[in-house]
Amino acid sequence: PFEVRVTPMSGGDGTRHVLLVFRDLSEVHAGESMRRDFVANVSHELKTPLTAISGFIETLQGPARDDADARTRFLGMMAQEAARMNRLVGDLLSLSRLEGQSRKRPTDMVDLIEVVTETLRTLQPGAEVEGVEIVSDLPDRAGVLADRDQIVQVLTNLIENAVKYGHQPGRIALTLKHVAREPVIRGPAWRLIIRDDGVGIAPEHIPRLTERFYRVDTGRSRAQGGTGLGLAIVKHIVNRHRGRMRIESVPGQGTTVSITLPAA
Ligand code: ADP
Repeated sequence: PFEVRVTPMSGGDGTRHVLLVFRDLSEVHAGESMRRDFVANVSHELKTPLTAISGFIETLQGPARDDADARTRFLGMMAQEAARMNRLVGDLLSLSRLEGQSRKRPTDMVDLIEVVTETLRTLQPGAEVEGVEIVSDLPDRAGVLADRDQIVQVLTNLIENAVKYGHQPGRIALTLKHVAREPVIRGPAWRLIIRDDGVGIAPEHIPRLTERFYRVDTGRSRAQGGTGLGLAIVKHIVNRHRGRMRIESVPGQGTTVSITLPAA
């Protein structure tokens, strides 16, 4: 699609000219269609748990009114659906905050070891409940200029994915390595590697995983409580830190996600 503007002009020597200006609107249109898709996706994602909750309420008001067992079960399921909506709204708010943030690089000195250790302390009990062991191999100190809360979010999303799509019982390996010279970053960097032994991802899906709401297996993601926004958030945060993310996977064997951040 083009927008054309026509301006008649006359030359100094009496000749007459026409100035044609073409404006390529394909990017504007692509932006509008992406926004429309996004709103449609969000509406659908919110409607699914709402419909389920409405269904449970109807059943509790009607056929299951006097059934104590059903009441306990349905209330549990309603709590689960409400938690899903809560996570979705939380992730949407995170994304919108990230998109509205200035492109300025974070300037706080953060020790990745401290952040990783602290995040593992929070996540390890949950992983153990799922039968997943997390083993880590970390140096003594790893300084980066970062927004600490955002690094916690990156780690949380990636470790939760490794648990959700990993083997149960299974094992997650978390490694932090110094890279003397990272070509894209053009300098020394820290590389955080999270490896799981789970379902893996077929190669054709990998380039699309950071799109909002893109899932390889929607049923599995939903069943695990996924919002489909985790990796989109991770990508935003990594970009803001001038880092890079790489996802490698062997279907049926497991997935490795590496995050490389410039060393401070
Ligand atoms: P979700 O909430 O669905 O997990 P994400 O944005 O975190 O959303 O991930 C997008 C999709 O990428 C997931 O639905 C899943 O199909 C796939 N995925 C992410 N991490 C892994 C992993 N460690 N192993 C296998 N598949 C993964």
